[in-house]
Amino acid sequence: MPKLYLLLGGNLGDRTLYLQQARESIAAQVGSIKQASALYETAAWGKTDQPSFLNQVLEVETILGPEQVLQTINTIEHDLGRERLEHWGARVIDIDILFYDNLVQQTQRLTIPHPQLHLRRFTLLPLQEIAPGLVHPVFQQSIAELLQQCPDELEVKKYKKEV
Ligand code: AMP
Repeated sequence: MPKLYLLLGGNLGDRTLYLQQARESIAAQVGSIKQASALYETAAWGKTDQPSFLNQVLEVETILGPEQVLQTINTIEHDLGRERLEHWGARVIDIDILFYDNLVQQTQRLTIPHPQLHLRRFTLLPLQEIAPGLVHPVFQQSIAELLQQCPDELEVKKYKKEV
């Protein structure tokens, strides 16, 4: 069954509750959660005058294709009350597709692997926790190697162990 890695993030309201609700919706609508990283806290990226983010990476087994995954996570984001106020702005929940097996795809709607993942410590640190040896299908480097080379200097702290 295809193996999917998702990044969850949110910086508004009860952040841990929104992440929990997102995990429940993902388990019900996308597929079985095989691994979940701890939660990590990061200062807001790109726009700094807003609350800090909590992030988490999940490994999910799914029977959905990548486009169906995108549709489903968009629905989950919408259902959890996300408001698109501004680009880089605050949101209760954001869900990104990081990897879908070894798939490399670039369309207008969907780029896999996620085009920013190697540039962001808040993505690489939780990924390294659950999949350090996973090899990026474009760069042909492991998550641990990508993290060593990552230029991002934003502090990322482990927040709380939660599955
Ligand atoms: P945002 O939530 O603001 O980061 O952007 C969401 C939009 O980015 C989605 O509606 C997708 O069409 C597009 N997108 C492109 N690649 C990805 C990806 N790997 N994961 C999630 N969304 C993606």
